[in-house]
Amino acid sequence: MGCCDAPGLMPVETALDKILADVKPLSSVMTVALSDAMGRVLAEDILSPINVPPFANSAMDGYALRADDLKDSDTLVLSGKSFAGAPFEGVCEAGQCIRIMTGAQMPEGTDVVIMQEETEVEGDNVRFLIKPKAHDNVRPIGDDIHQGDTVIAKGTRITAREMPLLASLGIAEFTVFARPVAAFFSTGDELRPVGEPLAAGQIYDSNRYGIRALLEKFGCDVLDLGIIPDNPEKLRAAFKKATTEADVLVTSGGVSVGEADYTKDILEEQGEIGFWKIAMKPGKPFAFGTIDNTWFCGLPGNPVSAMLTLYQLVQPMLAQLSGHSQYQPPQRITAKATTLFKKRPGRTDFQRGIYQINPQGQLEVATTGNQGSGAFSSMHQANCFVVLEQERGRVSPGEDVTIELFNHSMY
Ligand code: AMP
Ligand code: MG
Repeated sequence: MGCCDAPGLMPVETALDKILADVKPLSSVMTVALSDAMGRVLAEDILSPINVPPFANSAMDGYALRADDLKDSDTLVLSGKSFAGAPFEGVCEAGQCIRIMTGAQMPEGTDVVIMQEETEVEGDNVRFLIKPKAHDNVRPIGDDIHQGDTVIAKGTRITAREMPLLASLGIAEFTVFARPVAAFFSTGDELRPVGEPLAAGQIYDSNRYGIRALLEKFGCDVLDLGIIPDNPEKLRAAFKKATTEADVLVTSGGVSVGEADYTKDILEEQGEIGFWKIAMKPGKPFAFGTIDNTWFCGLPGNPVSAMLTLYQLVQPMLAQLSGHSQYQPPQRITAKATTLFKKRPGRTDFQRGIYQINPQGQLEVATTGNQGSGAFSSMHQANCFVVLEQERGRVSPGEDVTIELFNHSMY
């Protein structure tokens, strides 16, 4: 058993349960216009003020008529037209039919539409080549949505699938939860911002770009506090700024047990540690706590660990904080391993994998290769995590494994 597989680490599920037990949704709500609502979380149930469609209409271009009129005859007299946006005003009497277009209102007296391909027209007479069944090609009033129905539940995040639905109800504005403000910074004397040359021993600060990208995808307003050196005074100042301005502080690095790892010490000094160190790989030294009214999430510095813990632990936490009660965790399914997955028992591994459906239609998954916690190219190559259970050892080709598909925030 190596240093990182020490017994007593908190299982990932326990860590997540603890986070979710503590975090309460932010209470402030605001009204937004539909056009500004993309990505926002609904703070109210949306009830439909209207029926959709609001009137019975035709699903085809053809002729509207009374089905009974074709029992003894196959020809009716063309008596008017009903176009989308220009309905037929009168009543369709016995023996008559009305030219109708897709989406046009069903004329009074008609109950069926026969598509134009099933007709022969001679002057004002239309001969019908088929006998219709009741309600053929008619979209009844309220076919999709009834007035008063709850159409979208409070706690739903508005996506491209909700925008047109809300518009179809004529809803111009509604209340949403305020977005959490998430401050973040990177720590480390070795870090340089992109755009500057590297001196000996330096690396680029890559984590801040992943953190920002994910926090924005999670629906936060972000506050980038830059790179903070491994200096307790500078770190204290950054903590101070974050706790006065943000609901959440996400830091990267400095939560291990190295001599320059001050982040956790300052959390201890200024706030409260909920827990530290999780039985996950990569990502063991994740720290969670509070400072005043700000939630603290201390990500490990290794780039894969930072992104993984942010995705696995902070994502559901922010969903809860955002009032996103309809949040669904990323989907897990079973796939057949086609390569070896090296693993030791003791922690839950989130290895980077590439899944595909093979020519036989089966789901299979291969490793991306190097699984080092600093090997970030594995995140780029992967399209899923291979979630290997805490007590499991190495996986041979042919074994079943659980894969977790990336959700929208990774794209
Ligand atoms: P730490 O957690 O601070 O001990 O850092 C662990 C490893 O991650 C070290 O190799 C760091 O150089 C590296 N690291 C820390 N922060 C970052 C960052 N923001 N971007 C890229 N690598 C980092
Ligand atoms: Mg460091």
